[in-house]
Amino acid sequence: MNRIISDNQSAFIKGRLISDNVLIAHEYMHFLKNKKFGDWDLALKLDMSKAYDKVEWCFLWKVMSQLGFCDQWIGWMKECVTTVSYSVTVDGQPKDDSIIFSKANSQACQNIMQVLNDYNSISGQEGWRLMTRPNSLVTKVFRSRYFRHSSFLKADIGYNPSWAWRSLLEGRKVLEKGIFWQIGRRSAVKIWEDCWVGRQGPLTLRQNQEPNPSLIWVSQLITEEGNWNEHLIANNFTSEITQEILQINIKEEDNLIWYREKGGSYSVRSGYEVCFNFFHPPLESLPPIFADKNLWNSIWDLDCPAKVKVFTWKALHNGFPVRHQLHARIQAVPAICPRCEMEDETLTHCLLNCIYSRQVWNHMGFLFNSPNRVDAEDSFVNWWREMQVKIKQESFNKKQRSLLAMVLWRIWISRNNWLFDGKRSEPAGIWEEAHNMNEEFHLKTSHC
Ligand SMILES: [Zn+2]
Repeated sequence: MNRIISDNQSAFIKGRLISDNVLIAHEYMHFLKNKKFGDWDLALKLDMSKAYDKVEWCFLWKVMSQLGFCDQWIGWMKECVTTVSYSVTVDGQPKDDSIIFSKANSQACQNIMQVLNDYNSISGQEGWRLMTRPNSLVTKVFRSRYFRHSSFLKADIGYNPSWAWRSLLEGRKVLEKGIFWQIGRRSAVKIWEDCWVGRQGPLTLRQNQEPNPSLIWVSQLITEEGNWNEHLIANNFTSEITQEILQINIKEEDNLIWYREKGGSYSVRSGYEVCFNFFHPPLESLPPIFADKNLWNSIWDLDCPAKVKVFTWKALHNGFPVRHQLHARIQAVPAICPRCEMEDETLTHCLLNCIYSRQVWNHMGFLFNSPNRVDAEDSFVNWWREMQVKIKQESFNKKQRSLLAMVLWRIWISRNNWLFDGKRSEPAGIWEEAHNMNEEFHLKTSHC
């Protein structure tokens, strides 16, 4: 595969990640922005569907046949690509280009940046790849710019770092909590700086005793025959550490492992655990809402698409850029609701009280009363709590429960369509969309 499909195609190939190219693109844009001399540069985004329609298919068949694929295989490929009709749905609307290339306005870009930034910072995934895949395109790009003479683990932030590089260094903090060297015969691991000893979790020897300056590389502790030099080790380390070292199996090559996962490879799941255990403030120190398990379970237990759950979670954190929030940061943005122009657009106003949103809720009358007028900042959370009590009392089923979140979500989407695309939907239409998507979702999941 690596011979047939070039380095700059990062998706759909084992060992490559679609986010590789996102990082490379960011790095390149950072370079373009900072470029002061030389020719002008230009960046292009290709519309996939248009490119797809213009492919000379017979060229592809010839290439495949030259590469040695048999006729039967080429026949299958013909079936797949020339009869294709594909559509990716975004917010329920069919879209035929890549999801990651969203609208080119600053808000959409900021959102993508934020998502990727958060992802990178908490996951450490790309950092792991930079260490374990030295020949990938993404590693080469970052090495040439930031750690030509050292390693990712030792690299500095450097001069004029890009957003992507800053994010990778954030992720490195996570990696440092779980990487561990297996030792090879001619080890290039550093005795006093790298993690290579300690079954209870990696420890750096420098923390335990004064380093002996004549010993630098672990390979110095290994004999010509490939065994530990017991005498040298016993003379230089405490008896505890000596025991630990002598129990290490010497391999052919150095190998970096992530010791928090059985297979030794980094996973987002174990990275999350590290984040939670080492970097997350203790729950007791946070506002009480964070410890309110019932509240959060009321979201994660919903039977609805993950994006709707995340939306609801974010709403309960008051995390949406409604005008009232924006105004607090940027005075030039008016706080007034851009739809009704009657009150400040707080999240509660936007989702519950705005005259347009209330009309949507009226369609749900038989399920939920339209929300009471409330003006306090955290009233959205209170309203959600009240709804949960009601849901319990009246023993609503799964479908009715998720409809509540779906309606909130559709209201938010329609508000954005109105603001950013000038598209206005009728309240009845918004309700119907939420209702239909909910029905569809439950129909699909009930067959699984
Ligand atoms: Zn309004």
